[in-house]
Amino acid sequence: MENQTQTTNHCAYCEKPLHGRSDMKFCNDHCRNTFNRYKRMAEKIAEHENTPEIFRIIKRNYEILKKAYPNPMKDNENGMIDSPLLKQKGFNPKFFTSVLIDAGGQPWHCVFEMGFITGDKSTLVKDFPQQAQP
Ligand SMILES: [Zn+2]
Repeated sequence: MENQTQTTNHCAYCEKPLHGRSDMKFCNDHCRNTFNRYKRMAEKIAEHENTPEIFRIIKRNYEILKKAYPNPMKDNENGMIDSPLLKQKGFNPKFFTSVLIDAGGQPWHCVFEMGFITGDKSTLVKDFPQQAQP
């Protein structure tokens, strides 16, 4: 299908009209390189601005798990928390600090020393003191 509004393309960087192939996006390499450099810079800045929010999420995840299990758990002890309740408290399982594979091959996501496995109904919690060490 033909797009009538696209008969004249403009450079994505300097916005000058482009004369040439219809798939052209830039007048020249200079415009392309500068555009891509700015784009990467903008992406980096966006990444940086998001960082504190991620720290907040991780801190909240840790506080929620710690509140449920404030005392260190014994070696083979598991805790269990209702998953919908965790979600309601603001727990976000997408963010954690490390992953540990236990002896049975089961991966645990850890927020510092607090490991968790999220299921639809319940979330398993386990203490892995060594996971808090860098
Ligand atoms: Zn240009």
